[in-house]
Amino acid sequence: MTTRPFVEIDRVWMRYNGSGGTLALRNTSLTVDKQEFVAVVGPSGCGKSTLMRLVTGLWPASAGSVIVAGKEVDRPLSIAGMAFQNPTLLPWRTVLDNVMLPFEVVDTLAARLRKDRALYEQQCRELLELVGLKGFEHKNPWQLSGGMQQRASLCRALVHQPQLLMLDEPFGALDVFTREDLWSVLQNLWLARRPTVILVTHDLREAAFLADRILVMTARPGRIMIERKVDLPRPRTPQMTYSSYFQDLVQDLREHIDRARQGEELAHAE
Ligand code: ADP
Repeated sequence: MTTRPFVEIDRVWMRYNGSGGTLALRNTSLTVDKQEFVAVVGPSGCGKSTLMRLVTGLWPASAGSVIVAGKEVDRPLSIAGMAFQNPTLLPWRTVLDNVMLPFEVVDTLAARLRKDRALYEQQCRELLELVGLKGFEHKNPWQLSGGMQQRASLCRALVHQPQLLMLDEPFGALDVFTREDLWSVLQNLWLARRPTVILVTHDLREAAFLADRILVMTARPGRIMIERKVDLPRPRTPQMTYSSYFQDLVQDLREHIDRARQGEELAHAE
């Protein structure tokens, strides 16, 4: 018996601002299996963030269907956790209280929190320890570096044990060393919790380090152009990025994206 994919995007079109507006996605289809880690890469403006908004139900598709966990997505998904490029932690709350936030803003979770605050607080502390923030629970975000803030926002995205984790350029604003540290942090979180992950990134090495499968999009209006499986064992280590397998994979992805961008330039020149 084959199991149904967890995320099913079927021939989706997305045009912003009505019939004369920007066509962001054109007849795009993809599937993601349960507990799979997929990365989406592609030229800037090709529709990656749009894809994230459709999967999480933040925008409706203009045509086609988006199904998550067997259900058509027609409203913001409560089974998803999200993290973006900027950590968006609330400055007046401590790290612990920021990570606890989903329990307060999602109705069903608020009821659980009222019943057993100590248990959920303990789970928060465990997550913070897992990402190396033990001892920082009572600091405010401005007392943390950018990388530490992003660690906290990964915890916040995962604290309510979402089945789906959506990450849109989560490390894009960090320097290269901090970013690479966070690859391992994210991998550890995924191995511990095993949510289904869709990661949008412009960093091809990041995609190759983290993902089971990489989807490369065409220039806008975006579609999936090719996909590549990443055959590296887990946990992956920084040393693996020096291997010729890893470097060839990244080079292959880069060539496809360059070609997509050249196609876009030619189309604009016509
Ligand atoms: P990416 O994440 O790949 O950089 P986006 O999904 O953000 O691409 O954007 C795809 C296209 O849709 C771009 O041309 C962008 O300008 C346009 N777009 C994105 N969001 C909106 C919006 N809210 N209103 C109108 N156009 C938008």
